[in-house]
Amino acid sequence: MRIILLGPPGSGKGTQAQLMVQRYGIVQLSTGEMLRAAVAAGTPVGLKAKEIMASGGLVPDEVVVGIISDRIDQPDAGNGFILDGFPRTVPQAEALDELLKQKHLKLDAVIELRVNESALLSRVETRVAQMRERGEEVRIDDTPEVLTKRLASYRSQTEPLIHYYSERRKLSTIDGMMAIDEVTAAIHRQLVALGATEPKARAKSAARAAPAKKGSKPGTSKAKQAKKAAKTAKKPAKSAKKATKKPVKGTKKAAKKTASKAVRKAAKKAAKKAFRKGAKKAAKKVTKKRAKR
Ligand code: AMP
Repeated sequence: MRIILLGPPGSGKGTQAQLMVQRYGIVQLSTGEMLRAAVAAGTPVGLKAKEIMASGGLVPDEVVVGIISDRIDQPDAGNGFILDGFPRTVPQAEALDELLKQKHLKLDAVIELRVNESALLSRVETRVAQMRERGEEVRIDDTPEVLTKRLASYRSQTEPLIHYYSERRKLSTIDGMMAIDEVTAAIHRQLVALGATEPKARAKSAARAAPAKKGSKPGTSKAKQAKKAAKTAKKPAKSAKKATKKPVKGTKKAAKKTASKAVRKAAKKAAKKAFRKGAKKAAKKVTKKRAKR
């Protein structure tokens, strides 16, 4: 499966991409992350990108196209990938079309996460606060001033891609203002409808979902969100299982059997509760007596 996630900064592309990595067994190719790694390592690409990124501008097309072309060729991308933050301009989209053609690969879908601009600043502020809490290094371009510039460049250079992919019948728009798990479910439904995946592909262990992003630690709030999303995604599976269970034959007898089973279960539960209550009371009494002494 090959997908593009499109959306302004703070729209949740990164979070959704991580969840999709776990669910579909594909890799997340984030040009932003690759560029940050290049900056940190001080490579020639990193040196070129550093200032541009810090100011909220866009790194030259040929640089990011080169990075993506190399990355797609790596074996772990063989199963499929999610492009997060690429393409960001029409020339990048055209270069990607050409690249995929040369490599005999097909793009399954472009998922646009649509969000209210008014929510973006507070989302990015939350992300910064959470990163600080976890003791992680905060992105230098996550400031209100730079965010304003990044949003402006999204509007002028990236938004035209919505038209580009809609014309090519590749675009699916999802309401990115919904809760994380609802966005995940909506994306999944869309991918199923497009035939890009099987309906049964469900979120795997949430514990494994969260640390997918490099550098993120387990037990972070993102991990918690992923856990929640995975849990919710699992719920319908349970009810579906129940619904497909064969109805019990011999109605009256079966009903009686089920009823008595339920009664026994309830009684057992009540007895357990009473026992626990009693034990607690007794423990309290002992503590009181000891305190008196
Ligand atoms: P992101 O992590 O996607 O928000 O990207 C962070 C920064 O990296 C952007 O503000 C750009 O400066 C740069 N960047 C990431 N992806 C691209 C791209 N496809 N084209 C140009 N610049 C990019």
